[in-house]
Amino acid sequence: MVVAESGFPSPLLNLDQGDPLIFESFWSKFNDECTVVIKGNDLMSYMSDPSNVCWFLLPVLRDAIKRIHGVVGNAVTDGKHIVVGTGSTQLFKAALFALSSPDSPLPMNVVALAPYYSEYKDEIEVLSSSLFQWSGDANVYDKDEAYIEVVTSPNNPDGAIRGPVVKSRAEGKLIHDLAYYWPQYTAITDNADHDIMLFTFSKCTGHAGSRLGWAIVKDIEVAEKMTKFIRLSSIGVSKESQTRAAKIIQVICDNYHNPGSAESNLFFHYSKRLMLERWEKLSEVIKNSNVFTVARSQGAYCLFTNESSESHPGFAWLKCKEGIEDCEGYLRKLKIISRSGKRFGVDAKYARLNLLCNDAFFDEFLMRLSNNKWISG
Ligand code: PMP
Repeated sequence: MVVAESGFPSPLLNLDQGDPLIFESFWSKFNDECTVVIKGNDLMSYMSDPSNVCWFLLPVLRDAIKRIHGVVGNAVTDGKHIVVGTGSTQLFKAALFALSSPDSPLPMNVVALAPYYSEYKDEIEVLSSSLFQWSGDANVYDKDEAYIEVVTSPNNPDGAIRGPVVKSRAEGKLIHDLAYYWPQYTAITDNADHDIMLFTFSKCTGHAGSRLGWAIVKDIEVAEKMTKFIRLSSIGVSKESQTRAAKIIQVICDNYHNPGSAESNLFFHYSKRLMLERWEKLSEVIKNSNVFTVARSQGAYCLFTNESSESHPGFAWLKCKEGIEDCEGYLRKLKIISRSGKRFGVDAKYARLNLLCNDAFFDEFLMRLSNNKWISG
């Protein structure tokens, strides 16, 4: 199905948002195993576990989160606090709240290296908060004021592996957004052990509709403040979503712990192959294109799959050749909706496209890119 938009003679292909429908076919094989039954009197309380800092986190989800990080080896959870959120979108704001100080005379500056995930800026600016403010590209931050640097690795939009870059002498705090630090997108090179790490169910398994994310937090006071923010913004996180997420994560882990599992039933192996196939097809089209180049970060040895692995970002970060200044506008002529580089803090020569779309969208995307010579010729 291709989305139509009024005003255009033929349907526009919308690859602006990162909707992760690519994994649907895998999950349809596990419909029964993933089914959860919730009865009329189940899950009625706000409370999940009064003994935990994050009192609305269901113990079954906490255990599943620890288990999946144990299986993949991508983040240390021992001795840490887990805070659950309505998507990692909510946790990002909770982390900003926790790291800012109401006593500070100035709002805390929030920066990220460009190209940065476009929503950070928009999510901060819509709040007009006195606690924190968006201060742009981390690479050019030179204020002598306290700051928070968001480190997104692998990065959205370009899949780059990143560390902090700010050189200011002022006090800096870090939030690591590890939404894409899963084997289908990148090599797992270490068990990440940062102060605040954000993960999302949306990109881990593809269940964006459950709106569930989690933060792994070292410092108990930060975890408490994040919990407070979520209490004040939504009094916790849907237990229906938590129950479903726990179940799906358990199904992934059970398959990995079953020595008889076929590789096609191992979620990260299956999804890595899918991403690899898409990147092979896209690379071929780009190679034959006289208009675009595409960003691809270097591969590395993956400790999870025990093999050298290329990166397979969830987005194509396209750059137009000299002479085409507006990549998004150019793609629109091909009836493809993308997100302009300007939204990510760089110039309009770049545009981001969702590669996690369903097969029909992906095939149509490749066809429109391959047939673009009528535009350039
Ligand atoms: N961080 C990054 C880098 C993302 O790409 C996304 C989703 N596009 C999010 C956070 C938000 O994820 P969620 O669906 O959990 O709110």
